[in-house]
Amino acid sequence: MKEKLLKLNSVEYRYDTRSVKGVSNLSFEVQQGECLGLIGPSGSGKSTTLKLIASIITPQKGNIEFLKDHTLCYVPQMTELNNDKTVLEILTEELSHIESAEKKENQARSTLDLLNITNEIHSKISEISGGQKQRVIIAKAMVLNPTVILLDEPFGHLDEKLRFTLMNELFSLFKENNITTIWVTHETKEALAFSDRIAVLNHGSLIQIDSSMKVYERPNSLFTAQFIGRTNIISTKAIKIEDSHIYTKLFSRDIQIPKPSEDFKLKEHMDLIVLIKPEIISIAQEGRFKAKIEKQIYQGDCFLTQIKIANEIKIWTYSPSDKRFTIGQKVAFNINLNKVHCLNEL
Ligand code: ADP
Ligand code: MG
Repeated sequence: MKEKLLKLNSVEYRYDTRSVKGVSNLSFEVQQGECLGLIGPSGSGKSTTLKLIASIITPQKGNIEFLKDHTLCYVPQMTELNNDKTVLEILTEELSHIESAEKKENQARSTLDLLNITNEIHSKISEISGGQKQRVIIAKAMVLNPTVILLDEPFGHLDEKLRFTLMNELFSLFKENNITTIWVTHETKEALAFSDRIAVLNHGSLIQIDSSMKVYERPNSLFTAQFIGRTNIISTKAIKIEDSHIYTKLFSRDIQIPKPSEDFKLKEHMDLIVLIKPEIISIAQEGRFKAKIEKQIYQGDCFLTQIKIANEIKIWTYSPSDKRFTIGQKVAFNINLNKVHCLNEL
């Protein structure tokens, strides 16, 4: 069973008491060994949250409790390394509490081994590649054997492929060593791929915190739904509500979709927002719904295809990259109704 490591209780921090900039009423818990991703638009309070957890700044209201012994390392956004120093010098600077130079070097080496850059131990920062610099930045944090690591957009300036390789390697390393990771990224796909849970922030408030899959498939708000990826959003009305299902009309057809949760509040005839991810729509020979092809955008691995349903509603779906339609062509499509999500807010 996972143990609780950290608890934020109604934390508030404002950079300027007259403005709302910062974070407010922030409450969530982090389990030991978990990887929590923080996402949200620019200025939503991601870096502020990380600085609060790192004790760089102190809450003005509420508090942050660590429930277990820990050593924490914080890697700020835009960390730069001194170009004139060698990799070894960068790491040993962190080890001033160790006297013996030999011991320092051994500890540095073992960290560099983990991160596969031991070969560069005597290289100057100016002589190594962007990807290697990023490894050194992480090594600088890991050389102290932290149990908690906080990373603020750590891979921002690396190209996509390199970023993926490095993240894939690092997040496995953190897991193997039972390191609790809290990280900020603006790449939603990467947050989904590497985090156990995701916290979604907007204007300094926590909007949702759930498993990656839940945040993606069952967002709790229009904000999360729109932030997390491409979603078709359709307004309709509830017709009948049962224990586990909601009956409604979608594109003039009577349908039945799962009720998002037991306590989902909705009355008959009330407005309902239906969320349909492009990947649960499939254009097919035989289909329950009818549409016309509006647009196709080539994506390499598929087409992003826009279809137009009666009364001008346009929705996005994916279709195989070897199947190009003619614009205006009549098609039928199906929706995996079990995967349709809905919200009751407007
Ligand atoms: P994010 O990391 O999500 O982009 P931040 O946590 O950096 O957001 O910022 C949250 C809000 O606080 C923003 O409105 C930002 O402009 C403001 N802010 C951040 N740092 C400072 C600062 N040092 N002084 C004043 N305002 C700041
Ligand atoms: Mg930031």
